[in-house]
Amino acid sequence: MQTIWAVGLFLLGLGVGSFANVLIYRVPRRLSFVAPRSFCPSCGHVIRPYDNIPLISYLWLRGRCRDCGAGISIRYPVVELLCGLLWLGVFWHPGLPWTPAMPSWTLQAELWPGLFFVTVLLVISGIDLDEQIIPNRIILPAIVVGLAALGAVSLVRGDYHVILHAVYGMLIGGGFLGIIAFLAPRGMGMGDAKLAAFLGIFMGFYILAGLLMAFLLGSIGGIILLAAKRKGRRDRIPFGPFLALGGALALFWGEPLYRLYRSLFHLG
Ligand SMILES: [Zn+2]
Repeated sequence: MQTIWAVGLFLLGLGVGSFANVLIYRVPRRLSFVAPRSFCPSCGHVIRPYDNIPLISYLWLRGRCRDCGAGISIRYPVVELLCGLLWLGVFWHPGLPWTPAMPSWTLQAELWPGLFFVTVLLVISGIDLDEQIIPNRIILPAIVVGLAALGAVSLVRGDYHVILHAVYGMLIGGGFLGIIAFLAPRGMGMGDAKLAAFLGIFMGFYILAGLLMAFLLGSIGGIILLAAKRKGRRDRIPFGPFLALGGALALFWGEPLYRLYRSLFHLG
């Protein structure tokens, strides 16, 4: 039974990853994400339904458009696969970093907010890498849905601490990066602060571990990009993907990360 759920969620994750590609491409261009149907950016031909199967079609077509033979970016299957794997990860590691572990794999209430969480992180990372923006059209509704989802978890569990932690995390994450963005607007944007607020909803006090992780990863990433001369000293390196990575790491390894954080800062 567990395997059936795992396979089902993985396949569903691939499909949602396909939709994530649509969002990553269309939202910054202010296009509708329901119409028109997906088309080849080279020749404009509408992609046939049987050529639009996540992962499979890319392999079947060997990464080329059926009409004009133009190469299809490898990022489409990569985003689809990543989404499927993240969904599988949430399934194997349900629950939020600060909720007590469940004794079995049963589909618990936190599974659905977890799936939503990783999908939003994936879409926002893709857009931020492409355009260096975190669009309000994604992050603001995501914050509202996140709060509503954890409010629902609160009700299902009969435990108001869930929504309380969500609100604390949101205020800590958003407030902390909001202050940095206010003091150093060149380094950090208000979009990053909103993303940190979103992370905080799902991470509660673990947002501190997530932020620490994001700053560490961001510094390492920045040094590597500078050393590889991929970015100059004046280029803006998007921080959103590092925040998202920190958030995903905290979701899957929140407890050990938090222990590391406490020992680093001698919090006992
Ligand atoms: Zn084409």
